[in-house]
Amino acid sequence: TKDELDSLKERLPKWLEASKSLSTGGKVASYIPELSKAPQQALGIHIIDASGDSVSAGDCGLSFTMQSISKVFTLLLALMDNGEKAVFDKVGMEPTGDSFNSMLKLELVQPGIPFNPLINAGAIVISSLIAGSGPDEKAERTLQFFRSLSGNERLQFDLAVYQSESETADLNRSMAYFLKDNGVLEGNVHDVLDVYFRHCSVQAQCADLARMALVLAYDGTDPITGVNLVPRRYVQIAKTFMVTCGMYNASGEFAIEVGLPAKSGVSGGILTLVPGRYGIGLIGPALNPKGNSISGVHLLETLSKELDWSLF
Ligand code: GLU
Repeated sequence: TKDELDSLKERLPKWLEASKSLSTGGKVASYIPELSKAPQQALGIHIIDASGDSVSAGDCGLSFTMQSISKVFTLLLALMDNGEKAVFDKVGMEPTGDSFNSMLKLELVQPGIPFNPLINAGAIVISSLIAGSGPDEKAERTLQFFRSLSGNERLQFDLAVYQSESETADLNRSMAYFLKDNGVLEGNVHDVLDVYFRHCSVQAQCADLARMALVLAYDGTDPITGVNLVPRRYVQIAKTFMVTCGMYNASGEFAIEVGLPAKSGVSGGILTLVPGRYGIGLIGPALNPKGNSISGVHLLETLSKELDWSLF
């Protein structure tokens, strides 16, 4: 691993440049107006191993919001707060093949629970399951959990992105009201969405995502501090969802081309890991038509092929 990281230090910048040139073919997300300000050409990656050695390349200093990447970790928190049974009474375990914000199958399949916790409908239900006396406490507990996983006490909400999403989230709002009417979502819809928008707006850098991914790569224990942060079983569940649903409706293709558990977000971030070896955080705001970082996916394909990382 040490040798591989050393050789990566030389090879990574070249691979990154090749992938970066693809960013002109992608589009920065603009449905949350604030996100459209992100630099289209940027590409950065950070890879960390269990001894804390790391290699990074490109625009790693860029801060971005976690968006859907946060859903992996709110799932873990909801599982820790409620146990498996209570969570999977309310969300399913199957991929949809539809886009992340699709409402299509909410009505189609009885009993009307969202297909999985990584699509928006499922993640909104998960937000409702986070313990706390109200939205402030729930959001604060989530942020604290993200801080402990990333080892970064300075993680914060990006209030401009939060505000921007909150003002424009008509589709997510309609989904949440539909779920409430179905009896799947409990509590005050406005408060649940407030928690959801806030955890999507947690601002991070590639190194933060890499460290969070490292905890998943080591089954819930931060190998750098030795502290167990999440029960192994819940990490196993989360990583399985990452393989089957983590890259939107391109998860099958990603499993074939890269072969690692991963989660992307509309900000262009990707969190991925090589089990028992590395945590990886990446940012490339220009997205392909399925909503994944266009240059980021290309770079991960190169890395996986060159270093034989596929689990399959
Ligand atoms: N906050 C975003 C939304 O709900 C997250 C979407 C994503 O990253 O896929 O629209």
